[in-house]
Amino acid sequence: MFCKETSKSIKKSKRRKMYEGFYACNTPPYGYKKSEDEHGKLIIDENSAKVVKKIFELKIKHMTSKQIAEQLNKEKIPTPAQYLKVKGLPQNSVKIWTRTSVSRILGNPVYTGDCIRGKTQNISYKSKKKISVRKKDYIVTKNTHEAIISKDVFEKIHNDTLYGSTKQDVNRINTKFADLMYCAYCHKKMTKRIQKGGINLHCASNRESNELCSFKENYFYEQIEPIIIEEIQKTFESYFKDKTLKKSILKRQNTLKIKELERLLNGQDIALKRISFKISQLYNDRLSGKISEEEYKNNYAVLIEERNIANENKEKLELDLEKFQNIKLETSSEKDIINNLIKKIKRDKFSLEDMNKIISKIEIGKGIIIIHFAFSDIADKKISTL
Ligand SMILES: [Zn+2]
Repeated sequence: MFCKETSKSIKKSKRRKMYEGFYACNTPPYGYKKSEDEHGKLIIDENSAKVVKKIFELKIKHMTSKQIAEQLNKEKIPTPAQYLKVKGLPQNSVKIWTRTSVSRILGNPVYTGDCIRGKTQNISYKSKKKISVRKKDYIVTKNTHEAIISKDVFEKIHNDTLYGSTKQDVNRINTKFADLMYCAYCHKKMTKRIQKGGINLHCASNRESNELCSFKENYFYEQIEPIIIEEIQKTFESYFKDKTLKKSILKRQNTLKIKELERLLNGQDIALKRISFKISQLYNDRLSGKISEEEYKNNYAVLIEERNIANENKEKLELDLEKFQNIKLETSSEKDIINNLIKKIKRDKFSLEDMNKIISKIEIGKGIIIIHFAFSDIADKKISTL
C-alpha cells in the first residue's frame, strides 16, 4: 500500500523511462490509480477517493475506527480488497471493513500527497524477509501526487488525543491471566488495553467488527482476577487433598515443556546459522564491490542486531531447559513442587509461568468464566459472574 522507491532525483525527468526520477507504486494505494500518461505517477481514483474522504470526515466527527467500519459495512461499500479486485489487482480475502482496515487508511500519509518509502526493509539485500522500520526512519518525499486529504486534517487526527490515536500497548504488562484469556464465542484471544487506569479486556474479533464476533462486552482484568484465583485455590486444594499425588502429573507436564524448549532452541540455532551465513555473504559482496559501503553498513547493523536477539533468546531457553531437566531428575521433589504451587496460589504470589503449569486457557463469555485446567483429570470450571 505504499510507494516503492525508484528515485534519486525528481529532476532527472528525461530518464523517467529508465525507472528513475519518479515514484512508482506496485499497487497504488486505495484511493489512487496509476496514471496512464505519466509512468509511475499516482492520480486520484474518484470512486475510492470518495470513500477515503468519507473515512476522514467521520473520524473528524470523533467516530472510532470500528464505528466507521460498521458504517461502511452498513452502506455495503466494497472493501479496498474487493474494490481492487474489481480493477484486476492483487487482493486478499477480506470481505468486510474492520477497525484495522479503517485505521490503516487513517494512518497513511499518502493521502496528503506525500510518498512514504522504507516502511519495511529487507534484512539483507538478498533476502526477501522484511522487518518493520520505525516511523521516524521512514523516507518521506513531500507532494509527489495530488492530495485527497489536507495535511491539516491528517495532522489534527494524528496529534489530537481526542481522536484516540495514542496507542497504548499493554502486551508487555505482566498480568497473571490476561495472556490466557479467550473469547468463549469466537475463541480469539482477548485484547488488552489500558483504560481508566485498569486493563480492559475485549474480544479481538469484536474489536475489529461486530460482524466477526458479536461479543461486545468489556471486562476489567482487575475485577476478574480475584474470581479466578479463588476458583483455582478451591479446585486445587480439593484435588490434592482427596487424591494421592500422582507422580505422573508433573512428569507429564515436564516432558511437554522440555520438548517445547528443545524445539525452540533448535529454531534459534537455525536462525543463528542463517545470520552467520548472511554476514559472510554480505562481507564477500562488499569486497567484490557488488554493494556500496553504506548498504553494507546498514545491512550489517541489522544482522548484528538480529544475532544479538537470537543469542539472548538462546541463553534464556538454555537456562529454562536446564531447570526443567533438573526437576525431572529429582522425582522425590515432585510433591514439593505441587505443594509449593498451592502455597503460592494461597499467597497470591504466583507468576505467569506458574499459571501456564496450572491453566491451559480461560474463556470469557456473557456472565460466565470458564477455566480450562492444564491437568487433564481436572474438569473445566464454569463460574457465573452475573
Ligand atoms: Zn469473540
